[in-house]
Amino acid sequence: KRRIGVLTSGGDAPGMNGAVRAVVRMAIHCDCEAYAIFEGYEGLVNGGNMIRQMHWEDVRGWQSRGGTLIGSARCMSFRERAGRIRAAKNMVLRGIDALVVCGGDGSLTGADVFRDEWPGLLAELVAEGELTKEQVEPYKILNIVGLVGSIDNDMSGTDATIGCYSSLTRICDAVDDVFDTAFSHQRGFVIEVMGRHCGWLALMSAISTGADWLFIPEMPPKDGWEDEMCSVITKNRKERGKRRTIVIVAEGAQDRQLNKISSNTIKDILTQRLGLDTRTTVLGHTQRGGAACAYDRWLSTLQGVEAVRAVLETSPESPVPVITIRENKIMRTPLMDAVQATKDVTAKIHAKDFAGAMNERDAEFKE
Ligand code: ATP
Repeated sequence: KRRIGVLTSGGDAPGMNGAVRAVVRMAIHCDCEAYAIFEGYEGLVNGGNMIRQMHWEDVRGWQSRGGTLIGSARCMSFRERAGRIRAAKNMVLRGIDALVVCGGDGSLTGADVFRDEWPGLLAELVAEGELTKEQVEPYKILNIVGLVGSIDNDMSGTDATIGCYSSLTRICDAVDDVFDTAFSHQRGFVIEVMGRHCGWLALMSAISTGADWLFIPEMPPKDGWEDEMCSVITKNRKERGKRRTIVIVAEGAQDRQLNKISSNTIKDILTQRLGLDTRTTVLGHTQRGGAACAYDRWLSTLQGVEAVRAVLETSPESPVPVITIRENKIMRTPLMDAVQATKDVTAKIHAKDFAGAMNERDAEFKE
């Protein structure tokens, strides 16, 4: 029986448990054995009790649980070849020759490096007497498949990452709550949301809640934005009779000179120029926690199933696939193409090519 390992790595995201559940059960359904690797690559490097066989009932009820129940970690040793050699040895000793990695672009890049190096790692293990030729012989081929787990929706090539809609839902709920108190006291609120270099969460939550103003990294405001923002907000309050003002700012927001636009800067502008009683709310890690929304449960299940299919069907010569969703269809895309396109967006932002950065984002985002 083939043995398929599954791990979650990088920042946790709602839906990761649904993905692990689906991989475990689909593996068993396809007459394979499933293994959970705990604490991300840390578990692969350390082996032992951190790699455990999973049975059908072990993942019962996991879809509704937040975070990742098999743990996640940033693992420095896996970045080094020495760490990856230990990981390869642990995999051979456990008879695991296929891996489904659910994480962000860093984790998936690590997976690609590992697959590239695999034959060399095995040869080194044999040369150093750590394993025998006979031991490595059945494991010459390593299949790796990526799943994108991230609340930021910052991976190119897929319309949604596992976790982003759960996070968006939580942000909208929080903004709705703030609305009530803002309305009561006629206050302004500047709400900072996560997303790192990506403005998807901020943009989608601003649209979903009808915010007054928005800042995202891909589309920095034109010089003089302070005047424009103040005039729009004044109009909304005075002419349109709005009792509350909501400004949403992505954590990666910046101006055209790439200086960070912080929630406190915006608050000071609204307070000083408009005399508006303004507060800031940084939503922080509540955006990551909690149960996955229905969409993420569905997405992680379908993608987990597809990941196992891809493990069993992808030839070792073809590039490592990542499971994506495009226009509501679950698809496979060469992993490093998606990672490279993601890096291109960030590079364009750094080069102040903001229009180019927006063009690179997915169609849904552009609209
Ligand atoms: P998030 O988007 O939430 O930050 P991520 O997967 O991008 O998730 P990283 O911290 O970049 O998070 O990567 C997670 C882990 O993946 C690292 O701690 C490391 O173990 C492994 N990793 C990342 N990049 C590489 C690489 N180039 N080579 C080998 N391993 C890597």
